[in-house]
Amino acid sequence: MSKAVESNADEVAELYDDFSEFHARINDNNLHVGYWEDEHDASTFQAAAEAMTRQMIRRLDPQAGQRILDVGCGIGQPAFSLARACQVDVTGITVSRRQIERATMAAEEVGLADRVRFEYADATNLPYGDGAFDGAWLFESMIHMPDKALALRETARVLRPGARLAIGDMFHEPGLDWSAAHPIVSAITIDTYAGLLEQAGFSLLKVDDVTPHMLVPKPVRTVLRDQMLEHRDEWVRIAGEAVVQQFLDPEVNTFYTPGLGYVLIAARRD
Ligand code: SAH
Repeated sequence: MSKAVESNADEVAELYDDFSEFHARINDNNLHVGYWEDEHDASTFQAAAEAMTRQMIRRLDPQAGQRILDVGCGIGQPAFSLARACQVDVTGITVSRRQIERATMAAEEVGLADRVRFEYADATNLPYGDGAFDGAWLFESMIHMPDKALALRETARVLRPGARLAIGDMFHEPGLDWSAAHPIVSAITIDTYAGLLEQAGFSLLKVDDVTPHMLVPKPVRTVLRDQMLEHRDEWVRIAGEAVVQQFLDPEVNTFYTPGLGYVLIAARRD
């Protein structure tokens, strides 16, 4: 038994209730980083965010008609892209009630309400029966969960044997934990995932360090900064002046901080 770790669901909800409104307007409803082919790839941030979703879909490898659980669904865009690309049914869960409202409205607007639904649930205490889903992903959501082992055990429980799991998340290099001072973010090293997954009942299929692909190419950074500048005041209110200053510094690679990495994982439920 692992020791009990307190859930931070209320604090996460508080951040995302605010943050999602902001992102919904500037980022096409994606709340994750982008994937660029190389430093010459001039895809917009929005296009690169969709490219990262496609990377996740490849790792999940879903079949038409399957039931997929999106653990930490944000405001729904990844679930919509998944449902469209693979003809699957998606249940998205989040601890932010405002995200559920937004995502549910969006599902109606894009005509996917029959196949994509959003519900309030904490990943560490899922309101679903054993084996209820054929696949699941945690797309930049595990980073918020203090008890990652429990979240993975719960995900394993609601998956049928043989189901696929995909994870996309930030990690930290050994000895360089950029997340240490952050109240609702706890990064782990890339090597930690294997043990966590195996103990939760998954077999690891593939671990890819895709850090170079999440670094925003220079021409894209300029466009992104201009976009963000239009919303400067609101952004300062949500993220604080220091973060905004760093983001706007042309010498700093957007979103990059020493020790930051990005991992994509494919696994199978035993
Ligand atoms: N996957 C989405 C959102 C990423 S943001 C996207 O790529 O756009 C992180 C998401 O994880 C938010 O929706 C947040 O509410 C959710 N989250 C964080 N901790 C959670 C928990 N314990 N249970 C369920 N969702 C959680």
